[in-house]
Amino acid sequence: MRGVEVVVVGAGLAGLSCAHELATRGHQVEVLEARDVVGGRCSSWSMDGMPVESGYHRMLGAYSALPDLLDRVGVDVDDIVCWEDEVEIRSTDGTSAVLGASPVHKPVRTTMGPVAGTAPVSAPDWVSGTGHALLDASPVRALTSPLRVGLFPVDVLADAADDLVRAWPAPLRQLVLPLVERGLVSQADLASLVPFFTAGLAAFEADPERLDRWSVERMADRFGVSDRALDNILAAITAGLFFVPPHRYSAVNLFGIAHAAAPRMHEQRLGAFLGGMTEVMCQPIADAATANGARIRTGVGVSELLGDPGRVDGVRTVDGEQIAADHVVLATAVGSAQRLLGARFGDQRWARPLLGATITPSVNIQFELSRPSAPVDRTTFGPGSCVGNYAEQSRTTFRHVPGRCQVTLTPPERFLGRDEQWVARRAVAGLRDIGIDIADTVTRYRVLSQPDDFLGLEPGNWVRRPDNRTPVRGLVLAGDYTDQKWLSLMEGAVRSGRKAAAVVCDDPDVDGEPPSRDRGATIPDGHRQAARRGRRTNREEELADLRRMISDLDARIDDLAG
Ligand SMILES: Cc1cc2nc3c(=O)[nH]c(=O)nc-3n(C[C@H](O)[C@H](O)[C@H](O)COP(=O)(O)OP(=O)(O)OC[C@H]3O[C@@H](n4cnc5c(N)ncnc54)[C@H](O)[C@@H]3O)c2cc1C
Repeated sequence: MRGVEVVVVGAGLAGLSCAHELATRGHQVEVLEARDVVGGRCSSWSMDGMPVESGYHRMLGAYSALPDLLDRVGVDVDDIVCWEDEVEIRSTDGTSAVLGASPVHKPVRTTMGPVAGTAPVSAPDWVSGTGHALLDASPVRALTSPLRVGLFPVDVLADAADDLVRAWPAPLRQLVLPLVERGLVSQADLASLVPFFTAGLAAFEADPERLDRWSVERMADRFGVSDRALDNILAAITAGLFFVPPHRYSAVNLFGIAHAAAPRMHEQRLGAFLGGMTEVMCQPIADAATANGARIRTGVGVSELLGDPGRVDGVRTVDGEQIAADHVVLATAVGSAQRLLGARFGDQRWARPLLGATITPSVNIQFELSRPSAPVDRTTFGPGSCVGNYAEQSRTTFRHVPGRCQVTLTPPERFLGRDEQWVARRAVAGLRDIGIDIADTVTRYRVLSQPDDFLGLEPGNWVRRPDNRTPVRGLVLAGDYTDQKWLSLMEGAVRSGRKAAAVVCDDPDVDGEPPSRDRGATIPDGHRQAARRGRRTNREEELADLRRMISDLDARIDDLAG
């Protein structure tokens, strides 16, 4: 049997970042990737003659580990993404809004959200808006409003909230008025979100595991979020980010992302890739790892982890090749990890939480069109329709055709395994529901289904995220589902790869943070502190397992009690 020092299974961002890190440190690494391209869920390739990608992605400006990795392999993020800095929400009731998504980089454009998408705000508009606000900024008017309106307290409160928002200075006002003035939500609806977000962020800070017992919908209900704010804002976010409705979306996932992004909010932006992600991002990382001595083999699937119950010492490939290794880094998506781990460690206590986790799939459809479906390329959410998110891409990622758009479908299970024509018809109808008509312009399309994608987004899975370090000698885990701050995102995958590399090297500073950027800028969570302590003793592991079991039981009792 041939032997190497480290086998990395999977060449997604987690596997690539791990391999690059290890190769840079002088370790002998071999990466085995089942598919013919590197990049995993961040890959692009040609599918029956049509260029496709695994699903359209946005780079967040708040990321640090991914830009750091790209920097180290000689790729400048600004060269591979186009910063769009705004998102659109289009509801099935005909209302819509365009919002800035870059509070500091482009303050005027962000605060002038409603018009930024189609034309820049003119200076006179801005001045007149500010002047208007100053004239209008009558705290007296807001304070006396309850006396001027009827006696019903909800109306009074709504009107007072309305007046208060109108009394804000123009730039601040413009942050929320885009939602309001096009009727997507009222100011009272917006005001109803304030206690929800305040409580959610505080709860995440205090005890994320407890927050994971709540779905976004249940929490919205508890904190008095109006139906319209739930349907048009929160549902847009949950279906837009991870394709599932608020009742299936754990509050911890919503506030976890907000919490992770908060320390770098000043950097927050949204970037669309300028080309296929394998080409512009993942292949350069793979090439740099190779240049440092790593061997990357595509088209080589791993079918089995070799060893005994206490040790992994190699892998067997689908073709029967056996490769011995001191360390195996399992860097697949969660579904494949469950299958490979389940076959060997299904009866081991440490593996049970992960093996019991649910999975959220993803299904998207990519259309080539005879003309663009929208005047600008930008992320759009479609609450109320089957369009989780949609974007025209002919000016950014796919510039070889006059029109190119992509729809991620929600809920994904409804579309998984269905006939492609049926999916295409539903997607075209869903786009029509939110006012985008592509029916007569479609030249070809491809449906991409990924059944194994994400750690289930519903309540109860947060505590199931495993550490990179396992109690099995020689076995290390990496992937966006492992315990790090950016669950199910590119940034999280890269961080997990770094952490896995640190475990292999027995480096005590196992946090996945890039060295020079925001180390120390974030509040360490309990899991990270645990990871920092280095190799845990058996006793600590037993205790951790017991705590997880108690927490699971607690959550179940809570659910049963309603
Ligand atoms: C539709 C969609 C949209 C997304 N949008 C965004 C976004 O806008 N922003 C963002 O930050 N993130 C986004 N993500 C999430 C992001 O893509 C993932 O978090 C990230 O790519 C995960 O990387 P990974 O390395 O953990 O896993 P993966 O990318 O899944 O890599 C795992 C690799 O392992 C390989 N593999 C599996 N089994 C085996 C085996 N047995 N043998 C060998 N190889 C194997 C797979 O082929 C794959 O290449 C999106 C994901 C999807 C699906």
